[in-house]
Amino acid sequence: MPVLVMKFGGTSVATLDRIKRAAKRVGVEVAKGYDVIVIVSAMAGKTNELVGWVNETSPMFDAREYDAVVSSGENVTAGLMALTLQEMDIPARSWQGWQVPVKTTSSHSAARIEEIPSDNIMGRFAQGMKVAVVAGFQGVSPEGRITTLGRGGSDTTAVAFAAAFNAERCDIYTDVDGVYTTDPRICEKARKLDKIAFEEMLELASLGAKVLQTRSVELAMRYKVRLRVLSSFEEQSDEAGTLVCDEDEIMESNVVAGVAHSRDEAKLTLLSVADRPGIAATIFGALSDAGVNVDMIVQNISEEGRTDMTFSCPTDQVKRAEKALAEAKTGGVLNFSEVVADTDVCKVSVVGIGMRSHTGVAAKMFKVLSQEGINIKVITTSEIKISVLIDRKYMELAVQALHDAFELDKAA
Ligand code: ADP
Ligand code: ASP
Ligand code: MG
Repeated sequence: MPVLVMKFGGTSVATLDRIKRAAKRVGVEVAKGYDVIVIVSAMAGKTNELVGWVNETSPMFDAREYDAVVSSGENVTAGLMALTLQEMDIPARSWQGWQVPVKTTSSHSAARIEEIPSDNIMGRFAQGMKVAVVAGFQGVSPEGRITTLGRGGSDTTAVAFAAAFNAERCDIYTDVDGVYTTDPRICEKARKLDKIAFEEMLELASLGAKVLQTRSVELAMRYKVRLRVLSSFEEQSDEAGTLVCDEDEIMESNVVAGVAHSRDEAKLTLLSVADRPGIAATIFGALSDAGVNVDMIVQNISEEGRTDMTFSCPTDQVKRAEKALAEAKTGGVLNFSEVVADTDVCKVSVVGIGMRSHTGVAAKMFKVLSQEGINIKVITTSEIKISVLIDRKYMELAVQALHDAFELDKAA
């Protein structure tokens, strides 16, 4: 039997009624003759609640216990989904990550999937089971402890299962009906794309479009998984939603494919650090050891052998960063006058593979922002994206103005 992977996100399993609705969708595919692997997220809001409890109990928590707590939301929905399917007379069984097992690295709270042996579940399919319901977002480390894959990680579970089981397709059911030119919740002119190239989706995801977790797109690209994003709230045809595919499957595309935003960014500046070889290695080595995910970096001009170094990281890692830098200072490995943190910034980016061959995108982006009176604090670019750090209060305005200026509401 061909295998299909269907993933249901938090809003799609938020209530017992919604689980029933999702189970009916699964039933439709089972009736077509598929063996189905269903990956479920926790009920909407559950993971946030669990993360909140961990933070309240222990702000500098042990990540192994964080994983023990936050992985539990998915266990509930996996069991409920299996029960709902059984009530519909569809042979179904639930699996937690360790039971499959989903083997991961031991980097707790951000583990990577290393291997998913298929024999266990395939054996059950051979015996007549039609649906394996797997708890997303979780796995087991080589030490035998529960791990999680980072926020949004059920997408990655889904794609990894699709690759491991050679699935015909991996369908990601969510609360929007596909991938849009920008987040439809902040720009009403956002346009749904029928197809998007892996590279563009990868950039959009890593720059904040949370519709797919970045790692899931990476895996789909590497293992050539047919990845589709669609709504769990509407009746679906085989062509519904957005297909994430190779660039050459797309006939026409705009120079800019989409605009992404990341709300919770912070900008930190170290004032007056010595400008000498090894200083960046010391600063960013200390931050990396403390588990801070540094994104943009700018070194300002130096005067009399001293310089200012600016970097950005997620807002919830500012305390960790400040602590690591203060420790490096007291330990005598780093000398600076002070750290200035700006926690009211956000990142807005434009993405498109057309930028490889078209010039002028950066100039146009900066002009649009200046016309709106928005000051740019940091800029970074790559071959197919330009990102700017700006004040958070301008985020929606910037996204909408850029969407208009690059005419993303119109198809190529
Ligand atoms: P799920 O719980 O199903 O995993 P998520 O909340 O993780 O859903 O992702 C879906 C959300 O992603 C949408 O509700 C939407 O607000 C947001 N989003 C951000 N950028 C985009 C985009 N370019 N296209 C579609 N959705 C986007
Ligand atoms: N429940 C997890 C989260 O909210 C994983 C997921 O939904 O993908 O991050
Ligand atoms: Mg998600």
